Amino acid sequence: MKILMIGAHQDDNEFRCGAIAHKYVKLGHEVKFLSMCNGNGGHHKMTPEETSKRRYGESKAVEKLLGITYDVWDIDDCTLMADLETRFKLVRYIREFAPDIVIAHRPNDYHADHRASGQLVQDASYLLIVPHTCPEVPAMKEMPVILYNEDSFKNPAFSGDIVIDADDEIDTKLTIADLNVSQVYEWLPYTHGEEDQVPENPKERFEWLKGMNITSETTDEEIMASKSKGYAVRFAKTAARFRKELIEKYGEERGSKIRYAEAFEVCEYGTQLTEEMKKEYFPF
Ligand SMILES: [Zn+2]
Repeated sequence: MKILMIGAHQDDNEFRCGAIAHKYVKLGHEVKFLSMCNGNGGHHKMTPEETSKRRYGESKAVEKLLGITYDVWDIDDCTLMADLETRFKLVRYIREFAPDIVIAHRPNDYHADHRASGQLVQDASYLLIVPHTCPEVPAMKEMPVILYNEDSFKNPAFSGDIVIDADDEIDTKLTIADLNVSQVYEWLPYTHGEEDQVPENPKERFEWLKGMNITSETTDEEIMASKSKGYAVRFAKTAARFRKELIEKYGEERGSKIRYAEAFEVCEYGTQLTEEMKKEYFPF
């Protein structure tokens, strides 16, 4: 299979789909990440040019770690628009790769780039099979399955239609975060007013990055109540939030013990999944 993950920014795919991406690669499938924006807005000290260059390097490190292909479009951060030009650019881009699965943002989100990115995927979806639109790239014969990656916005609330156990990928996900140095140790702490809390020593800062210490004894209530912005907590919240779905999928014994998970909502505009297809497309 071919799987395409489309985020507005570098780190959107990483944090929301890093585990499933690596699981697909390990099974021999082909995975591609697209960041629609060039990342140039994500710093408070470096110039936009320096930031996008540095973030491109960080994305290439993630590409290598996961064994994927990572594309970055040269659209400035905070300027992404769901316009016709970008819609057609996306139609051509998706057709050239011809994925079986596309994972994107939901179009309701606090960030205008995320909204535009999700809207663009929706707008492109039907056009993928329309030959007279963008005739320079052959139309697809079949629509891919389209999923939304997880968010916590409530109007309407995200639905965990597909949940996967990510316990075996937590080290990979934390390493991905660690590779995004300019973001997780510089820019995001600056936006949270926590710049002075980041340890200088790489080992210590990696521990700091995880946030709260999560063990087999930690309860879902403790995880959900945690105010920590650490990445282990963030990834654990998905498992706590979708505990019912994890138990439904993996059974009480395993489902109740899963610490880390990823969750996806099925978009109504792509190929719809039968129970049979769910097993085939998500063999985890
Ligand atoms: Zn983003």
